Amino acid sequence: MTFLTLSHLKKSFGATQVVHDFNMAIDKGEFISFLGPSGCGKTTVLRMVAGFETPSAGSIVVDGKDQTNLKPNQRNIGMVFQAYALFPNMNVFDNVAFGLKIAGQPKADIEKRVKEMLALIHLDHLAERYPYQLSGGQQQRVALARALAPKPQVLLLDEPLSALDAKIRVSLREEIRQIQQKLGITTVFVTHDQEEALSISDRIVVMNAGKADQIGTPFEIYNRPTTRFVASFVGTLNVLDAVVTDQSAGIVRIGEKTLAIKEAIPATNGATIQLAMRPEAGTLAGTDEATVLGQVTSSQFLGSVIRTRIAVEGKTLSFDTFNDPGIKPPVVGDTVGMKIDPSALILLAD
Ligand code: ATP
Repeated sequence: MTFLTLSHLKKSFGATQVVHDFNMAIDKGEFISFLGPSGCGKTTVLRMVAGFETPSAGSIVVDGKDQTNLKPNQRNIGMVFQAYALFPNMNVFDNVAFGLKIAGQPKADIEKRVKEMLALIHLDHLAERYPYQLSGGQQQRVALARALAPKPQVLLLDEPLSALDAKIRVSLREEIRQIQQKLGITTVFVTHDQEEALSISDRIVVMNAGKADQIGTPFEIYNRPTTRFVASFVGTLNVLDAVVTDQSAGIVRIGEKTLAIKEAIPATNGATIQLAMRPEAGTLAGTDEATVLGQVTSSQFLGSVIRTRIAVEGKTLSFDTFNDPGIKPPVVGDTVGMKIDPSALILLAD
């Protein structure tokens, strides 16, 4: 059931168009991430949904109501920013109560709701503290509680974790996801961190230069990227040359091996096409089994996996093997074989 619809949204600042025909239908209770490089327009789309920017064209509809021209305070939207943006002169309780006081709610209702919110973020014991007495992670949880207290229709999160330490980022993103699911609130989360987007979203919008390049579940975005940009922005990518040997049967030759890929190939027999491969689609193999042989240019021990880079016909390919305490990792200069799982090869459309 669509709850938030963004139709043909465009935004220009002066002569520069930064959002180009952005379209998206978001279901009630969905957690959507906008993922893309700096400057691709993620925040601008979010700010249009919040009402801080007016679209140059297009519409924003929430629960069947057109909100395109409403002011921010006429919309029922909660927002959390990168910088915690708490009121420094108010304690935690008053920060969380702020939106409810503005709405003129009775004191007893405010007290009840703030207590609920503080319990939700596990900070009931810090109600009297001021922002300067809290850690960055605690401040951001208070900012989340403040945004959620007035029961917004939509929650917008603009890189809420990027100012925090790595460990806190991981625990807080899980907490945000749990709270979001508990409340069933429709949420849009802006990030340039692919792992963050992959780990907590129902769907991801990968943005490139003001447009949605691909919209899909984390599984689809990672395993079946439809453009070269998405494939290379999300995860590590190897690009291999393959010669089509049987177009209709989807058979290609890579190195000395013939492989059957899952997809239909839009190229004639004899043509060279490019296929993408994630590092985990390759395994270390003996000469007989190997799809390609190459010289090791680097070997990184990452704990659970070992990432090996090999030089093959002028290209560097990366592949991961699970750590096995019984097997020594390859060393630089070795010649090793890599076997490719053909079902994991990705046909790049452009
Ligand atoms: P980041 O991850 O760095 O925040 P972003 O993807 O969120 O990037 P936006 O902040 O939406 O990108 O900016 C998109 C483009 O619009 C950028 O080139 C930016 O400089 C420009 N831009 C944003 N706001 C304004 C403004 N008020 N006036 C002029 N240009 C702007």
